[in-house]
Amino acid sequence: MAKRLLSPDMKKVIVTGGAGFIGSHTVVELAGAGYEPVIVDDLRNSEERVLDGIAAILGRRPSFHRIDCNDAEALNALLARETPHGAIHFAADKAVGESVEDPAKYFRNNIGTLAVLLGSMREHGAHHLVFSSSCTVYGEPATLPVTEDAPDQNATSPYGYTKVACERLVRDQCIAVPELKAVLLRYFNPIGAHPSGLIGELPRGVPNNLVPYVTQTAAGLRGKLRINGSDYETPDGTCIRDYIHVVDLAKAHVRALQWMEQRPAPLCEVFNLGTGRGNSVLEVVKTFARVNDVEVPYEIGPRRAGDVVSVYADTTKSRDVLGWKAERNLADALRDAWRWQQRLAD
Ligand code: UDP
Repeated sequence: MAKRLLSPDMKKVIVTGGAGFIGSHTVVELAGAGYEPVIVDDLRNSEERVLDGIAAILGRRPSFHRIDCNDAEALNALLARETPHGAIHFAADKAVGESVEDPAKYFRNNIGTLAVLLGSMREHGAHHLVFSSSCTVYGEPATLPVTEDAPDQNATSPYGYTKVACERLVRDQCIAVPELKAVLLRYFNPIGAHPSGLIGELPRGVPNNLVPYVTQTAAGLRGKLRINGSDYETPDGTCIRDYIHVVDLAKAHVRALQWMEQRPAPLCEVFNLGTGRGNSVLEVVKTFARVNDVEVPYEIGPRRAGDVVSVYADTTKSRDVLGWKAERNLADALRDAWRWQQRLAD
C-alpha cells in the first residue's frame, strides 16, 4: 500500500480494540482511505506485535494508546486531546462459553465500555459511531437468509445478550444526542487474514472458533479437529454459517463512516455483514484442505451446547443502502488464513 503522509485535516477515528483481529484490519483500511486511526487497546487479548504488522503494511506506525475502555478518566483525556471525528468500538470479550461462566465480566467489559465511550464521545463532540454487533442477536432465525428486521432473540448466552443490550444502548443514545450518527454492524463469521500475511487472528490457547482450529490442526499444532455434531438437519449434517473475509468486513467499516457522513443526524442504522452464502463445517474443512493442499485430520464429535444450526445473511440492505458487498469468497479467506498460520509458525 502506498505510504500516506499525515495531514492536519485528516479525520481522526478512535478504534477501540484496534490491535485485535477485526480492529487491526480496519485500522489498515481506514488509513488507506485517508482517515487517521487512533488505536485504543489494553492488549488483554492481543499483542504489541500486531502494531508492527500494521506499520509494515502502512509504512508508518499508527497512533496507539494502551487504555482499558472502562477507564473513563483515561478515555476522556484522550478524546479531549485528540477531538476525534468519531469512533469504531471493537473492544469487547467474545467467548460464548466464558460468558456463561462469568456473566458479570461480559456486562462490565462489553456494555460498560460502550457506556463509557458514548459518554466521552458526547462530552467531546465526536458524533460518528460504528459499533461491532453480531448475528448472535438473531439466535436461531425462523427464516433464512436472515434480514435485519428479524426479531432479536434476547439471551442465547450472556455474550449474545450484551450485543442486544449494546444495540439498544446505541439506539437510545441516538435519541438522547441528536447530533449522533451510528451504524450497528452485525457480523456473521469473520475469518481469513490480510493477504500480506502481516496481520491476522492471534487466538490465545485452544481456539474456540472453527477456522483457527483448522489452521492449527493443519499446521500440526493440534492432533485432530473435532466437528461438533453431524446429525443436524442440514445437507451434510453439520452446522451452516456465513464465513466472511476479514478484509471485506474491515472495508465495510470505512464505508459505514463515509455513508454516515453524507447523511443528516440523528441516524441509527443496522446492517448485516456477511456474504449471503451459507457453508457447512465439513465444506469449510474440505475447501481448506483442497485450496491449500494440506490435510486436516478430523473426527466427528458430539454437538456443542447452544450452537445455532444454520445462519447466513440477507445482504440486500448492506448492498443497496450502504453500497457494500463482500468481494472475497470462502476459498480466498481460507488461503489467507493458512498463509497467516504459516507465518505465525516462522
Ligand atoms: N466448530 C467445530 N469444531 C471446532 C470449532 C467450531 O465443529 O473446533 C463448529 C461450531 O460448532 C459451529 C461452526 O464450527 O457449528 C462455527 O463455529 P465458530 O465457533 O467458529 O462460530 P460461531 O459458533 O460463533 O458461529
